[in-house]
Amino acid sequence: MIWCVEDESSIRDIEVYSLQSTGFEARGFADGVSFWEALQTEQPALVVLDVMLPGVDGIELLRRMKASAILRDIPVVMATAKGAEYDKIQGLDLGADYYLTKPFGVMELVSCVKAVLRRCAPKRAEHLLKTGGLIVNLDEHTVTADGERVILTYKEFEVLRLFLSHPGVAFTRDQLMEEVWGTDYCGETRTVDMHIRTLRQKLGRYSDWIETVRNVGYRLEVKE
Ligand code: CA
Repeated sequence: MIWCVEDESSIRDIEVYSLQSTGFEARGFADGVSFWEALQTEQPALVVLDVMLPGVDGIELLRRMKASAILRDIPVVMATAKGAEYDKIQGLDLGADYYLTKPFGVMELVSCVKAVLRRCAPKRAEHLLKTGGLIVNLDEHTVTADGERVILTYKEFEVLRLFLSHPGVAFTRDQLMEEVWGTDYCGETRTVDMHIRTLRQKLGRYSDWIETVRNVGYRLEVKE
């Protein structure tokens, strides 16, 4: 879904219509306030953001998005009036992905949106830890094994995340305690064993990927 924030209804309609007619889902917002409200419950794939808006302007909205862990990776195409060089520099400094200078053509908008989505695709994929059929989605905090959701506790998730980030590396129980439970946690290392046991149970056919390293601890061995 592409969101277009533009107070001038004729431009907004053209943006939404041209994106829809090339196969995108698109939705228009007439002001920054309604856009910002909608962002709290839903996140678009990309935003076309006008700079000059009544109330909260585009630069301020961009600043807020970049300050939010959930919103900062949403690509933003800024649309600004011709000659507003200052806006352009400010927007790019703040992390806008592209600048469109008004008046822009329909094809220019569509090809720009496609290019930015393409360019941003690998950046978003980095939030997946994928090994064989085992996928940890760091954004959604979910795990799937061969496409099936695996429901893990928070600590089990953190253990698995650590293993998948360092395949083949052996971790001692103390290291796991420190990485997952934190240095100020005064528990016993038996806690680690308990979590490894339940994690293995939940991972089904991937359970033997978590190997016990005798006299050391555990490590992830990819077996495919
Ligand atoms: Ca405007």
